[in-house]
Amino acid sequence: MERSSKRLALVTPSATLAASQMARELRAQGLDVIGLGAGEPDFDTPEHIKQAAKDAIASGKTKYTPVDGIAELKQAIIDKFARDNNLAYTPAHISVAPGGKAIIFNAMMATLNPEDEVIIPTPCWVSYPEIVRLCGAKPILLPCAARDDYKLRAEALASAITPQTKWVMLNSPSNPTGMAYSAGDLAALGDVLRVHPHVMALSDDIYEHLLYEGKEFATLADVAPDLFDRVLTMNGVSKAYAMTGWRIGYAGGPEWLIKLMAKVMAQTTTNPCSISQWAAVAALNGSQDFLSERAQAFQARRDMVVSALQSAKGLRCTVPDGAFYVYPDCAGLIGRTSSGGRLLETDIDVTEAILAEALVAVVPGSAFHGSPNFRISYATDMETLEAACRRIVEFCARVK
Ligand code: GLU
Repeated sequence: MERSSKRLALVTPSATLAASQMARELRAQGLDVIGLGAGEPDFDTPEHIKQAAKDAIASGKTKYTPVDGIAELKQAIIDKFARDNNLAYTPAHISVAPGGKAIIFNAMMATLNPEDEVIIPTPCWVSYPEIVRLCGAKPILLPCAARDDYKLRAEALASAITPQTKWVMLNSPSNPTGMAYSAGDLAALGDVLRVHPHVMALSDDIYEHLLYEGKEFATLADVAPDLFDRVLTMNGVSKAYAMTGWRIGYAGGPEWLIKLMAKVMAQTTTNPCSISQWAAVAALNGSQDFLSERAQAFQARRDMVVSALQSAKGLRCTVPDGAFYVYPDCAGLIGRTSSGGRLLETDIDVTEAILAEALVAVVPGSAFHGSPNFRISYATDMETLEAACRRIVEFCARVK
């Protein structure tokens, strides 16, 4: 008997979470594995944020809260959207959920029917298509070429839209490619969306503060203000404030959608953790100065990883604009054999061989629907990264 529901049986497990779990298990067995799988900042959550959580516990803020967020956090989010993105929301436009993933899930659950299509430019984050499948609708994967910096072009969007299209998902800077959309790129996509009023856009801005070399962050609802009512702009505290474990994601969007998302939450998770919400208030209202310092540290790591990998035999590595991922093309290794005797037919073979023979955990491009590549998360200290790059470069040199 099939135990899984038919719907869940269609869903692929999260490869990013699996990669970090695998690295943890191998380390527990005593192997010196370097985990560059899941994208999680190595920095600690800042002290003032931890203190706000301790204060919340001490003052008994440990009970149910309004389902989609406390008023104080909604206000902090409104202020953040105004300060950073030139977006004017009211509390009725704001939803808070237990993580960015939950925001996306709630939005999709609230709006998708079985015949609906969601356009997802690829390579994409592992969870977008699976959340759409979990909600019973159809992900439409739209491959974006390396020569276009893996970004969705307006013509490609225009030709993918059908009467069944309900959403298009945008993510900039991108997980897994690190490429970012400029205001001009987004304006061109906005022009397409303008003539298709039945299509909504999800703008996943979670890597907003991780953009390098002075590049300016742009988001669709700001670039195309007339589409304001059709854009769900989502973000979270995980990446910017090193708060992955606290599980706080948030979004701004049209009131009708925010209400439907609250209806989903009220029958599933109820409110996000009360203590985490108070910590998120401190994160968003506190000093933002350390964000640029951390971005500088990430940029130095990016530069080191990219230059190391550019020297690796069989890899081609573009320079990402932001996030903490590099996404080397490993076509030059495909069809060859590793020194351990593994035939490298796919990027899954490549990443399995890198794990087994070089003891570095990375995620295959196929998990992001963009092959043959693999994703390295460089959200770890420089010394570990240098060691990991050395191992990968040596692995590549030994491939026959
Ligand atoms: N978003 C991160 C990643 O891609 C965290 C893990 C996950 O939730 O997928 O690695």
